[in-house]
Parts: sequence; structure tokens; C-alpha cells
Amino acid sequence: AREIHLKSRPAGLPGADNFQLVERSLPAPAAGQLLVKTLFMSVDPYMRGRMTDRPSYIAPFEIGQPLEGSAVGIVEQSAHPEFKAGDMVSHFSGWRDHVLVDAATANKIDTSKAPAEAWLGPLGIPGHTAYVGLLRIAGLKAGETVFVSAAAGAVGSMAVQIAKLKGARVVASVGSEEKARWVKELGADAIINYRTAGDLTEALKKAAPEGIDVYFDNVGGDHLRAALEAAKPRARFAICGMISGYNDEKPVPGPDNLAAMVIKSISMRGFLVLDHFDILPEFIADMAGWLADGRVTYRDTVVSGLENAPQAFIGLFSGDNLGKMLVKLD
Ligand code: NDP
Repeated sequence: AREIHLKSRPAGLPGADNFQLVERSLPAPAAGQLLVKTLFMSVDPYMRGRMTDRPSYIAPFEIGQPLEGSAVGIVEQSAHPEFKAGDMVSHFSGWRDHVLVDAATANKIDTSKAPAEAWLGPLGIPGHTAYVGLLRIAGLKAGETVFVSAAAGAVGSMAVQIAKLKGARVVASVGSEEKARWVKELGADAIINYRTAGDLTEALKKAAPEGIDVYFDNVGGDHLRAALEAAKPRARFAICGMISGYNDEKPVPGPDNLAAMVIKSISMRGFLVLDHFDILPEFIADMAGWLADGRVTYRDTVVSGLENAPQAFIGLFSGDNLGKMLVKLD
């Protein structure tokens, strides 16, 4: 098997030298295990947090050990009665082309609903996160205006479409003209290219002259500041992620206008999708239906080869991906 290990802990933006490709042979699966050949693996912004040695909601990656994350693959050998060779599964032991997986942590995926890789995107954690953040955390209602940052990413592109399905007006921010065109196709009503827009707060106020009711935050930093300025009284903020700060070597002070929370009675609520598995069946039923009738569409950015997974991961921080960033294994 070929595996990507964490070689050293990055300082700031990770580089190729923080990763190492390692080859090893795997024994046959022990009782309760599956030998899985990985077809697609996910690279996600949150993985940056696990590369730093500090307490969090999930343990840090260990130096000299394989990285892990969501992946989909095909069972080659099974030592568990509920799985057989040929089953397609999702699992959490990505960054490896072959891996022994504890069957209790693998889930069979239904590739009649959507191709295997869609279980890492619209039907996987990104879709689930957008659904929970908008509907459960922010309680988005028809007729409201929602601002979505990193709107052409895996989570953001789902949030834009779910918000439109629910009858909201969507203001989206993205980092390129190509992404702006795509989120327009997805239904966004106003789009800000934050790299060319100049003052983001002014651009957002112009795009949402009456203010925003909901902010779906993927970025933090200047985007959060702008959303606080543009918020209507009693706006709700679903804090999903803050990618603009993930490579900071020291924590930076928060937005200088946080007092807007008091003045406008804004509620801001962070969430982890991991705490919302109870809603998974409802989400899968809704999303599979939306994909089937074409009301939700998706795109992936696919990087080929396990050896290129570190570069795919690093590319998340410069916006190399349109839709979900995936690595396709040979
Ligand atoms: P994306 O597919 O959105 O990829 C990251 C995108 O972020 C890039 O494509 C880039 O797009 C944008 N970006 C990167 N750096 C910056 C920056 N400094 N300022 C503005 N935009 C930036 O990743 P995901 O959809 O997987 O994740 C999106 C967010 O959701 C992340 O913050 C992630 O941590 C969070 N998340 C949270 C979960 C939870 O349970 N709370 C679960 C899953 C994800 P562009 O070209 O537009 O800049």
C-alpha cells in the first residue's frame, strides 16, 4: 500500500516537505476488518488544524503516521459478515491507496443514487454541513437574504443552492471570475469577487442594500467583519469555518466591529457537523431527491494520483478548487 504520512508539522502554509509518501505491505484483514482499495479521497481545510499539536475537538495527526480523512473505495477482501468483495464503501482512512478498515467504521454507499465521489461532496460532509448550518443553526426562512462566503467551494456551493431552494435571496462571495460565473448559474442573486471588489464591507452593503438576515461563514476575518456591518437587527450567523486564519501562526484579534452583535442583537453560533448526525437520514433523503430532479448540481476539482494529494490540500488555501477538491487514486 502507498500512504501519505505527516513528516513534520507545518508553520504557516503547509509545503510539500511536510508530507512523505511511504510504501508498506498490508497483512490480510483480521476478523472484523475490510481491505479497501480507495478510489477517491477528500482533502479538507479542517485537516490543517489537525497538523498542529494542540487540543481540539479531534486529536492532532501524529508525525510519522498516515494522515486520515474521508474517502470512498471498493472492498477487495472482507472479514466481516455484512460486507463482501465488490461493495462500495465510505470510510475515514483516506490518504492511502489500500487500507485495512474496521468494518464498524465503514458505510456502504448507494451508487445508484449518485457516483461514489458524490458521497464526499453533495451527499457527504460538505452537503450535510451546508444543510445543518443553514436550516438548523441559522433557521433560514423564505424571503430572507443570506450571505455565503467561499461560495464556490464544496460547502458554499451547496449552501447557495439549498438557500435558493428554500426561497432566500443569496449574496455570494468568491475569489475568481470563473467562480463568480458558476455561482450565478447555481442561482446566486448577487456575487462579490472579494479579490477585485475593493472594500468588502462596501461591496456587501451594495449587494445587500437592505442588509442580511443570515450569514453562513466559511472564511472569518474580513468577511465576518463585513457581515457584521451589513447585518440587519437580530441577524443570525452560522459560523461554519474561518479558513482565512487556518495558517496563522499566532491567533489574530477578532473583527474590530464585534460590538455590532450587541447593537443589533445578532446571534452567532458555531457548529460542528459531527454533532448533527441525527439529521443525516433527512438530509440524505432531501439531497438525493434534489440531485435526482436536478435542483442541486455539483462540480468537482479532481487531482490525480495519491502523490499529488498534498498539493491538492495546499491548493485549498489559494482557492485552486471549484466545487469539491478531490484526489482520484490510480
Ligand atoms: P472549500 O471547498 O470551500 O475550499 C476552500 C475555499 O476557501 C477555497 O476554494 C477558497 O475559495 C476559499 N478561501 C481560501 N482561503 C481564503 C481566504 N483567505 N479568504 C477567503 N476565501 C478563502 O472547502 P470546504 O467547503 O471543505 O470548507 C469550507 C469551510 O467550511 C471551511 O472553513 C471549513 O473549515 C468549514 N467546514 C466546517 C465544518 C463544520 O462541521 N463546521 C465541516 C466542513 C467544512 P476562493 O477562491 O473563493 O477564495
